[in-house]
Amino acid sequence: MSDTKKTEKIVGVKGMNDILPADAPLWELFENTVHTVLKSYGFQQIRTPIVEPTALFARGLGAVTDIVEKEMYSFTDSMNGDELTLRPECTASVVRAALEHNLTYDGPKRLWYSGPMFRHERPQRGRYRQFHQIGAEAIGFSGPDIDAELIMMCQRLWDDLGLQDVRLELNSIGNAEERNKHRADLISYFEQHAELLDAEAQKRLHSNPLRILDTKNPAMQEMVNAAPKLLDYLGEDSRAHFEGVQKILNHNAIPFTINPRLVRGMDYYNRTVFEWVTDQLGSQGTVCGGGRYDPLVEMFGGKPTPACGFAMGVERLLELMKASGEKFTPNQCDVYIVHQGEPAQLQASVVAERLRDAGLDVVLHCAASAGIGSFKSQMKRADNSGAAYAVIIGEDEIAKGAAVVKEMRDAEGKQSEVAFEGIADYLVDQIVGDDHDHDHADHVHYHH
Ligand code: ATP
Ligand code: MG
Repeated sequence: MSDTKKTEKIVGVKGMNDILPADAPLWELFENTVHTVLKSYGFQQIRTPIVEPTALFARGLGAVTDIVEKEMYSFTDSMNGDELTLRPECTASVVRAALEHNLTYDGPKRLWYSGPMFRHERPQRGRYRQFHQIGAEAIGFSGPDIDAELIMMCQRLWDDLGLQDVRLELNSIGNAEERNKHRADLISYFEQHAELLDAEAQKRLHSNPLRILDTKNPAMQEMVNAAPKLLDYLGEDSRAHFEGVQKILNHNAIPFTINPRLVRGMDYYNRTVFEWVTDQLGSQGTVCGGGRYDPLVEMFGGKPTPACGFAMGVERLLELMKASGEKFTPNQCDVYIVHQGEPAQLQASVVAERLRDAGLDVVLHCAASAGIGSFKSQMKRADNSGAAYAVIIGEDEIAKGAAVVKEMRDAEGKQSEVAFEGIADYLVDQIVGDDHDHDHADHVHYHH
């Protein structure tokens, strides 16, 4: 390798994004809000590995799905030849873990997960190769009540996040037997309209015709709209279950529309399926999808165990939050400490620690490659940090035993002299004020 090669910049993998400090506060706000809502419904967190045996997804998701056909990052472990895959979704992993650790031995479990997923797709707005999902899985629950609960939990979350343009689409895809009857009729319907099927649809005609209903091809919409509807094939139990879900949603004034064409990408779904969609994100408008997957545990070798869950796409939801126009840029700290000379630097380090003891967020100015810098350049840093106060310590302050405390957000730049021992009390008073319930560790001040 030549020297020029060695010094060439290495850039990240296409479709896999860095989340930069400017965006981190929005992620944190989002994640905290989701965690709080999940907790308020009694869901417990589970963390599974990012790498799983390839067979888990191949068997769980179904061979004729976008994910398994063309989107998985699969590789052979060079150490032992194991076939492994970066998880493209997490339901299969959660079910594997629940089974492996017999989590439902003492009753059904409400679980949630959060983290990166990997799919080899064409990167575009709202579609990445590493993206993030937060999802919930209710394992061992059989009734329409949990389906409705999951949906209502999502609704609460959108409300708490201030998202208004997200609407619920609902459908039931029945059980395997009902789908088989429908499938036969669907195939003959599509065969009658063979001239309208695109290449993708022709490929799916006999392997997974239900997915043709899911097509995004505008030229096929009319034909697909008039196709036999699975809803008309539901037996009594499936219909009662679906009605049960709707009854609870109606009773709680959760609006929804029934979309008879709604199917989900994975083979393991049955009965209730739902998606939360928005018109604000272009063609990547689905922000959350879920449904019931009663057959999955058994497919993985467990006892028949009904279950239901959903996964939301974090990037898409964050984009929706940004579209609302609100700014989510918190200040880096409450207090920025500047200093000049060694005695001042030593005193500044002590003051910084005392302020942190008192629960404040403090940035202590530190030397960079250009050195510690003049007071003027340090004050510029203080300003950029968004700190409400700067503490200034130089030779004079050391002599007096008191620092200068400057109000950064005050037009006149009001300054006070405060003895070193009193600074923590003084600043807590100023910053937290008479907000008695204020929890220091949690406080975040946002620029608006
Ligand atoms: P799509 O039809 O958009 O490909 P999907 O049916 O493959 O979605 P699911 O597997 O149901 O998506 O995943 C749940 C959610 O995760 C989606 O609704 C979406 O918000 C998000 N998501 C899925 N794939 C990606 C991706 N490649 N990049 C970003 N978000 C994604
Ligand atoms: Mg997809």
